[in-house]
Order: sequence, then C-alpha cells, then structure tokens
Amino acid sequence: MKFCSSCGHAVEHRIPEGDHQPRAVCPVCSAVHYINPKMVVGCIPETPDGRILMCKRDILPRIGKWTVPAGYLEMGETTAEGAARETIEESQALVTMGRLVAVMDIPRVDQVYLIYHGTLAADAHFGPTPESSEVCLMREEDIPWSEIAFRTIEIALRAFFEDRRLGISRVHHEVVRLPAR
Ligand SMILES: [Zn+2]
Repeated sequence: MKFCSSCGHAVEHRIPEGDHQPRAVCPVCSAVHYINPKMVVGCIPETPDGRILMCKRDILPRIGKWTVPAGYLEMGETTAEGAARETIEESQALVTMGRLVAVMDIPRVDQVYLIYHGTLAADAHFGPTPESSEVCLMREEDIPWSEIAFRTIEIALRAFFEDRRLGISRVHHEVVRLPAR
C-alpha cells in the first residue's frame, strides 16, 4: 500500500506504538491499515451415490487442472455461504453445505482454506461456467490425482475419502508448507 485509502495521502511504513510489526500508517489522518491473510472457502459436493462434483479450471492459475469449487470469501458472507456461492459460480450447482472437512493454513501465501462437505441432489443441475471448462461427477477411483490444481484441494479430498472409508466425521487441520519464495 502506497496511499491512505481514507484520505489519499502517502502512507508511512512503521511499527505503531504498542504494536509489534510494521504497518501502513497515515501521517495525516492517523489511520493504521492492517493487511491480513485471505480466506479461501469451498466444498466437496457429493451425490447420494457417492460421486464428487469436480471442475476443470478454465482460468489462471492452473488452467486445465481439476479442483472442487473454492474461492475467496467475500465481505459480509459466512464461510458456508461463500462456499455455496463459489460452487454456483464454478459449476452452476446448488449444494446444501454440511460439515467442515478441512482447515489448512498456508503461511507462505497468507491464505487459510476452509473446505466443507456439500450435499448435491441426485437430479441436481450442473455444467460448465466461465471459470470451468468441464464439470463432472467422479467416483473416488476416477479422481485424476496427478492433475489436481492445488495441494490444498488434494489434501482435503484425501481427508474426505479417508473419513468416508472409516465412517467418521472429523475436521482435519494441516499447515501446508510450500517452498520459500
Ligand atoms: Zn489518511
């Protein structure tokens, strides 16, 4: 940040009194501009016969790779609402949000992922969107593991299938360590 979003003056980068790390501080209106990690919310939509709705990305990054619906949480949304909205945007599908499957911290890129389980009706409509060139239902054995767009999505899917096999519900938490930038 170079300019104050409250008054437009150039900001200074310094540690405010009582704080512990540098912030963008406005010398004119005294506003302190905090920048915090972003939340990525999504879901694993499952049909009654156990198939998962997967999307082939038609946008950068990882265009052409597979994912479950997920994206940035918007202001004013709950995480479950955001996951449902992202599912519509990426697959046209209406899901009923269920339990939380996985929480993943990725400090290297300042993101936190929250992935839910979603219930998709047997006759649910779905299809391609501007964000997904293909949207289809896959059995566990059909998941293209080497073509999954993001490490976080692979972790969440593997956790989901493991829980389903064991017949248990739990929230997986993982700190995802990507190579240093
Ligand atoms: Zn200002």
